[in-house]
Amino acid sequence: EGLVQVENLTKVYDPDGANVTAVQDMDLHIGDNEFVTVLGPSGCGKSTLLECIAGYLEPTSGSVVVDGADVSEPDPSRGVVFQENRLFPWKTIGENVRFGPTVRDDSEVDQDRVEELLDKTGLEQFEDAYPNELSGGMQQRAELSRLLANDPEIMLMDEPFSGLDAMTKELMQEMLLEIWDDENRTVMFITHDVEEAIFLADRVVVMTARPGQVKGVIDVELDRP
Ligand code: ADP
Ligand code: ADP
Repeated sequence: EGLVQVENLTKVYDPDGANVTAVQDMDLHIGDNEFVTVLGPSGCGKSTLLECIAGYLEPTSGSVVVDGADVSEPDPSRGVVFQENRLFPWKTIGENVRFGPTVRDDSEVDQDRVEELLDKTGLEQFEDAYPNELSGGMQQRAELSRLLANDPEIMLMDEPFSGLDAMTKELMQEMLLEIWDDENRTVMFITHDVEEAIFLADRVVVMTARPGQVKGVIDVELDRP
């Protein structure tokens, strides 16, 4: 049955009465442990799809089910990484990971796990540093550690590497695949970069220009690192 079932999803924005159909009649299934990329031109509705799965947006029609339950609000089990990190600037990297993406400091993560996660993203030396002391790539690595600290069922990633230079991006892609494999995670990763979509995924879902619909699906055979 799979972890995520998006059925007949339509999302219409209504700014000042001007209806914008961002996603139309979209179906998408994501299985456990799958790495799915969603590829399409800018403005085709990728973020809208992701935000419906995350629970930030309410579908106009259709349904989004994750792990057997209708999605109605954001939940740490569906962790999101955006292009811009959402680290708390007044907390150290270690504290950001320990407390996860919540302002309420009530969901503390085990110190061993914090260290393990910083190790996996190569930030073991930076536990006491503040986000603004880190490069853009390192900040995204910290964001990745923080996301994993919540033990998410699915990692929802919205062009997380598109602000990075080419070499950093490649390193980040390889790191993400290692983590995905090592931790048995499920990932939906949005990008408009064809190479990135094919390099990362088991399955590439290609979207049409707005209104976003599934144009086709590419099954990728590849050797994992
Ligand atoms: P993508 O992630 O593929 O770039 P988006 O999901 O961000 O696409 O946007 C899809 C379409 O919906 C675009 O035409 C965008 O301008 C429009 N859109 C997105 N958010 C809003 C909003 N809050 N209000 C009105 N239109 C929106
Ligand atoms: P992305 O980089 O994922 O394509 P955008 O830069 O298009 O995202 O949009 C950033 C934010 O602005 C999103 O939250 C989106 O919903 C919102 N947005 C995008 N287009 C519009 C629009 N035409 N009107 C209002 N909000 C929009």
